[in-house]
Amino acid sequence: MSQPNVLLLGPPGAGKGTQSSNIVQTYGVEHVTTGDALRSNKGMDISDLDVEYDTPGGFMDAGELVPNAVVNEIVKTALREADGYVLDGYPRNLDQAEYLDGITGLDVVAFLDVPREELVERLTGRRICDECGANYHVEFSPPEEAGVCDECGGELVQRDDDTEETVRERLSVYDENTRPVIEHYDEQGELSRIDGEGSPDEVWERLHTAIEERT
Ligand SMILES: [Zn+2]
Repeated sequence: MSQPNVLLLGPPGAGKGTQSSNIVQTYGVEHVTTGDALRSNKGMDISDLDVEYDTPGGFMDAGELVPNAVVNEIVKTALREADGYVLDGYPRNLDQAEYLDGITGLDVVAFLDVPREELVERLTGRRICDECGANYHVEFSPPEEAGVCDECGGELVQRDDDTEETVRERLSVYDENTRPVIEHYDEQGELSRIDGEGSPDEVWERLHTAIEERT
């Protein structure tokens, strides 16, 4: 049988990156994110889309938001080239979900479900080394000495993105945009809700089981 097409949904902090890697390793599929797809298709000819630039790179070089139509086109190209995939970070809204329905067949739609307060704890606990970029978490992967990098002795700092106020704002925006997407797949009976609490290994066990049941 051909490799599965998996859509992985979940809020920031739900562990999509880690679980995507698990899917890639287990099924040998491609990890497709809009960011990567954009970067590897910077020079794609999109002159027929009737947008401001002839390539996606035009928007990126100008520091402008890449329009929906361009993102859609790039996702279509990336999925067409993949023999099985885990798609992560798309669709972000109902329009994109409906577009996706028209360009590909999904075998599994999995939603990593994590309570809001747990997400806040995960995201606000992140620390990054000012010197070497190493990642830590005050609770889940603390350095030996608080505030100091194990690797290089540099100072550990919190990114502006990870302060509580910003985190709550990001989660609200995600919720607002993505709730209709979740409902869309729920109504079609395609949604597998995965309990995203616990260790990455525990979550993977549940996710793996759900993928096996659907493929
Ligand atoms: Zn460091």
